[in-house]
Amino acid sequence: MTEGRRRNRRQESNVNKFILCGLVIFAICGTIFCMVANSRESSLENKMALLGQEGAAMAKGTDAALAQAAEEIRAARDKSFSVQPGVPVGTEDPSDDKKVVYLTFDDGPSENTKKIIDILAQYDAKATFFVTGSNEECRHYIKEAYDAGHTIGLHTYSHDYAAVYASDEAYFADLAQVGEVVKEQIGYVPCFIRFPGGSSNMVSAKYNNGIMSRLVDSVQEQGYQYYDWNLDSGDAAGCGREEIEANSTTDKMNHIMVLCHDTQAKEATVEALPYILKYYTDLGYKFEAIDRNSMICHHGVQN
Ligand SMILES: [Zn+2]
Repeated sequence: MTEGRRRNRRQESNVNKFILCGLVIFAICGTIFCMVANSRESSLENKMALLGQEGAAMAKGTDAALAQAAEEIRAARDKSFSVQPGVPVGTEDPSDDKKVVYLTFDDGPSENTKKIIDILAQYDAKATFFVTGSNEECRHYIKEAYDAGHTIGLHTYSHDYAAVYASDEAYFADLAQVGEVVKEQIGYVPCFIRFPGGSSNMVSAKYNNGIMSRLVDSVQEQGYQYYDWNLDSGDAAGCGREEIEANSTTDKMNHIMVLCHDTQAKEATVEALPYILKYYTDLGYKFEAIDRNSMICHHGVQN
């Protein structure tokens, strides 16, 4: 072998070693890079998972806190609205100068109650339903109205003047019966009532002389408050939509309690409701449900 060939072989072998070293270094660096990248990735994944868990826990905590707060508000409302003998209800002189409309619906529930609840929701309006026990299939609307933030009051179970006003005992027996119907739906007997025909009705005189004069006091002694109205929609007398709209709207009072009905026959009341809601909303009135501090609206007793 010539000196020149040996030199060439050595050079070749050096080049091969160099390439091999390069490959080894490349492989080591690549492995280290992958390991670092993987570890970064997995720690990022861990962090994301942790954040996700914390977020879910926080959201869960917020949901639970909100649910608990809502439950506490509801419990306070139920306690305040339940009948409590010896604790007076309502105020005779609303001192605030706010403009408020108390829409009240008597004689329900019926399928129209559901329509009314839906229309009220469109205007963020609250109202009061003085219910009877007559329409068993629609009783779930009592709870639906209550869940939507409306107030449930008692109007008697039978709404039969002859039976209800036969005697003081008969009246309270009937009131207790509708109280139980409402309690089944919302969990308590409310303190808000409306007499069939209002406290100024003269029909009761046919069945019992002087009964209204006694009942207006005795219901309050038993922890109830009765509410009449200062504006009559006229729907009980069979008025049509336009008449109901005209009868139910005024800008002459700041505290307005409107008498309406939500029986199945009162389609015209449902049709008039959007106009009434828009009329008062445009004038800056709020639609509120009766509560324990609401204005008491009493008629003059005539029997
Ligand atoms: Zn009625």
